[in-house]
Amino acid sequence: MLADWPRKFQKLRVDRASKTPAPHKPLLLLAILDFVESGDIVTPRVKLTPELAFRFLGYWEVVAARGRSMGRVELPFFHLQSDGILRHVAHDGLDAALASIRPISVQLLNRVISHAELPEDLFALMTDQQSREAMRRALIGGNWFLPNERIKLNAMLGIEGDFSVNAEEMASSPAQEEVCQGRDIRFRLLIVPLYGYSCLLCGMKVLLPSGTTLVEAAHIHQFSKSRNDDIANGMALCRNHHWAFDQGLWTLGHDFNVIVACDSFTEEAPNQLSLSAYHSHSVDLSHLAVEHRPSQKYLEWHRRHKFIGNLSSRPGT
Ligand SMILES: [Zn+2]
Repeated sequence: MLADWPRKFQKLRVDRASKTPAPHKPLLLLAILDFVESGDIVTPRVKLTPELAFRFLGYWEVVAARGRSMGRVELPFFHLQSDGILRHVAHDGLDAALASIRPISVQLLNRVISHAELPEDLFALMTDQQSREAMRRALIGGNWFLPNERIKLNAMLGIEGDFSVNAEEMASSPAQEEVCQGRDIRFRLLIVPLYGYSCLLCGMKVLLPSGTTLVEAAHIHQFSKSRNDDIANGMALCRNHHWAFDQGLWTLGHDFNVIVACDSFTEEAPNQLSLSAYHSHSVDLSHLAVEHRPSQKYLEWHRRHKFIGNLSSRPGT
């Protein structure tokens, strides 16, 4: 009966109260499959962590164009129990509270629920590559996604062939745009966790239980010009430093030394470190595999085409 899970996934009960069904459950299951694949989940125990919530929110962006409010990971984490997919386990002494708890917020659920358990046979399937693919196909092919959302999901997951989108649907949809959006989400989901949800320049990390984070995935060689979403073309930056990087107020040199265009702008930062104060610092990339570090080829483009300061007078550039 092992092979039944993809079929069961297609029969998930999703919220159909509004015009389009809200696919919270399929999106959380896609996030859980990713975490099993990456080794972030190694037993049938699933914890409602900020990291899992972040991944869920990435998937939620696929349906964001519907105009619904922000995705809420606590809803599928709670309601997948009724589908027999997640069994909630209470913290010690809180079994009674489990019966009456409602999915008001991540924090509230986590106060009562220690973790959820996947059925053993489902978890075993999730650890197998081919079975994961079958489950992803069942989830993406479900009738809760629109054709353009399936294109984005396929692009996110690097699935070739758009199995769940027929030629007619492709023709009626600006597929290239959807592919770009899907790849952009994938870029963010790769880069931000790789940098520990922290800004490469200032180290700032804010990750909420809901999965919202201060840090963004920045392209080094501007994406609209390069169409390049390699990991080595990315860095995680807080919003301020992402903006300043895109404006060319700072860049990185050959030794990953910070170069700030100090003479080219004015700034006041009475209560925090100014951008200029980072000049000549080196960023710490030691936690990244060499192939994941920002590529000097892309940094060279940024130094030449975006940086607004004068490079020739600066050593080490
Ligand atoms: Zn920063």
